[in-house]
Amino acid sequence: MRTCAIVLLAALVTACGGDDATSDVDAAPPPRLVVLETQVDASGLSPEVTFTLPETTRSVTVVVEGAPAALYALGALTFADGTDQVGLPAGAPGPAMQAMYRDEQIGQMPGSLLQSIRLGTFTHVYPYRPDQALVPGTASLRVASDTPGPVRVTVLLPEENGARVLPLNVFVVSDTLPMPATDQFTTELSRILAQAGVTVRVAHMERLAGTALAQITMSTEPQEAPDSQAAMLPALVGDHVAGGLDLFYVESLPAGIAGLSLGTPGPPVRGSYYFGVLWRSGLGSTQAARVVAHEVSHFLALQHLVNTGVSGATYPDPLDDTTPGEDNLMEDGTLLTPGQAFALQRSALLVAE
Ligand SMILES: [Zn+2]
Repeated sequence: MRTCAIVLLAALVTACGGDDATSDVDAAPPPRLVVLETQVDASGLSPEVTFTLPETTRSVTVVVEGAPAALYALGALTFADGTDQVGLPAGAPGPAMQAMYRDEQIGQMPGSLLQSIRLGTFTHVYPYRPDQALVPGTASLRVASDTPGPVRVTVLLPEENGARVLPLNVFVVSDTLPMPATDQFTTELSRILAQAGVTVRVAHMERLAGTALAQITMSTEPQEAPDSQAAMLPALVGDHVAGGLDLFYVESLPAGIAGLSLGTPGPPVRGSYYFGVLWRSGLGSTQAARVVAHEVSHFLALQHLVNTGVSGATYPDPLDDTTPGEDNLMEDGTLLTPGQAFALQRSALLVAE
């Protein structure tokens, strides 16, 4: 399983405008970007922190940033109807988080919400399944961790405005690799993601020469850690790049790996060490497009159809319209189901243009 950082803040913030001259109540719409500081205590949970979910919201993306060696997930996520989506088992969550992440190497959080436990920075996007609905109004969450300490919680609440364009920034991490041909690169990638109604465009392309990261030789399980080689790539991107999702084209990856995502889902937050997706050279253009589509889909929303833990136990994706063994992008194929399309369309990285 491969997992991923805060990007379209400008777009999100502009979405909260809308002065109505006829309004007689001076109530500004709730913000679509909320940053909260809290603390995980010895119980393994933070106190409840609240935010307001505006009407016509595409999704709630929660990014928890804390200590690089600590595991994070949500201990509760409650909307205005009062129902906690997480349903965490009783007791301190830390030991179960460690067992699932370090021993089983799956990182699936206990409870009824499918969450990928993560080292240092955790991301969750809700809803991820068509039968899940957002309830506008006061919402709250609690952070769960195996390590007490301060955390910063960023909540992105993009407007559902039909945004379906994913801008991509391509970074060639090599002194020698040719730059990918943009047409060749986007045609097949667009064909695959069009199944989800998502259009891609290359917004920026740049060579990152003279780095020590052209050849990624080590990978960590179940997902990249903050100090892994792959998670060092996002810091190479200069602050002249804004918006979109960053793709890193490297000379090589560890044996058997054609690409990887720094998140499942990844934090749509530029500046995070998990902000991006990698693929390697030596793949044909069709295969490269499939690999990038697969990794981008991880970053936005999607799990493999089935993951197998160290114990041999299997962990299916949360969707009810995917079938292992059939042609699917999240296995070795290229097809996407309506459920997968729904999940991809929730991403805060999508823009309307
Ligand atoms: Zn994968």
